[in-house]
Amino acid sequence: MGQPKIAVIGAGIAGVSLARSLADRADVTIFEKSRGLGGRMATRRRPDGHFDHGAQYFTIRDPRFHAALEEALERGVIETWDADLMQTEADGTVQSLDDRSPRFVGVPGMTAPVRAQADGLAVLCSMPVQSVEGEAGAWYLMTETGPFGPFDWIVSSAPAPQTAKLLPFAPSVRQALARVDMNSCFTLMIRLPDEAALPFAASRIRHPVLSWIAANNSKPDRNPAPALVVHADNGWSDRHLDAPPEAVRDLMLEACQSLYPMIGWQDALSIDLHRWRYANVARPLGQPFLLDSERQIAACGDWCLGNRVEAAFLSGIALADTLHTHLAEARA
Ligand SMILES: Cc1cc2nc3c(=O)[nH]c(=O)nc-3n(C[C@H](O)[C@H](O)[C@H](O)COP(=O)(O)OP(=O)(O)OC[C@H]3O[C@@H](n4cnc5c(N)ncnc54)[C@H](O)[C@@H]3O)c2cc1C
Repeated sequence: MGQPKIAVIGAGIAGVSLARSLADRADVTIFEKSRGLGGRMATRRRPDGHFDHGAQYFTIRDPRFHAALEEALERGVIETWDADLMQTEADGTVQSLDDRSPRFVGVPGMTAPVRAQADGLAVLCSMPVQSVEGEAGAWYLMTETGPFGPFDWIVSSAPAPQTAKLLPFAPSVRQALARVDMNSCFTLMIRLPDEAALPFAASRIRHPVLSWIAANNSKPDRNPAPALVVHADNGWSDRHLDAPPEAVRDLMLEACQSLYPMIGWQDALSIDLHRWRYANVARPLGQPFLLDSERQIAACGDWCLGNRVEAAFLSGIALADTLHTHLAEARA
């Protein structure tokens, strides 16, 4: 009997960690709709500056997360970001947050740890899965280039609303999935002239429009050119989801100007806007993964446990543990 075949949808930290953990006992293929790996651990590269426009940094608290990243830490693919974190109030007052908990970032960008984890795995990029057809033990993934399969198991690590559309879970599981709530987030990527600078490295923001600002160039081993990443407030982003991009951009810039008038925003060399449709988890599932062992379909991702890179990893790895047991039972 050959190894069981498993298809994983999504090459973010959850999908890649799950695939890595299963790779010695199953024939695993990852299908990723984007051109590269990392999902919301994302980096936009421009000739004159780099922007981590998704996750800003991550924590490493869980021993299994630490063990999984040990080699990447040793090789310098992950480093600490020692910047002081500030808090900006709606009236523009800025104070130190005095939060000294270690913050980690990928080097040279946030995708790097996921790419390191995926080393040697079978990953098909630019391969959006349009639908899933078949039955337990004989699943097919439908894509623009045709069907892939048969697979014994399908796992989706796509955000909850996208997973709900793809996987034919039983009605009770679908109800649990429907209760998960995810917010959107608009992100501005601003390249300032070389002589300009944010007076600090990063700040949380309590403001109706904005929630975060950071100088990407303050992270280790980045292009030194001043490159700012600005996140909008999640609720504000949801309310402006379908607004014209220019209007969103202008409102965010207006808020930047009012909070930080010392910066010459009008002199910016480039300003790009990114819309994250499913950015953050407002209401998680409350359990580490979803699994339908009869249909042989399952799902994981940050939306199971919480709104963080580490939560996404823990979800992927918890599902991998349970799948190990199922695969061992099937072999016995
Ligand atoms: C703006 C922003 C700021 C954040 N800041 C932080 C932070 O500072 N610290 C922190 O810990 N976390 C932060 N997060 C959250 C963190 O990025 C996520 O929790 C984590 O990266 C989620 O990983 P994941 O693997 O669960 O999902 P994802 O990274 O979203 O991976 C899912 C993958 O599935 C792919 N996919 C979806 N549909 C399909 C399909 N049909 N076919 C094929 N592939 C598909 C997607 O392209 C994606 O690559 C932030 C997120 C955003 C958006």
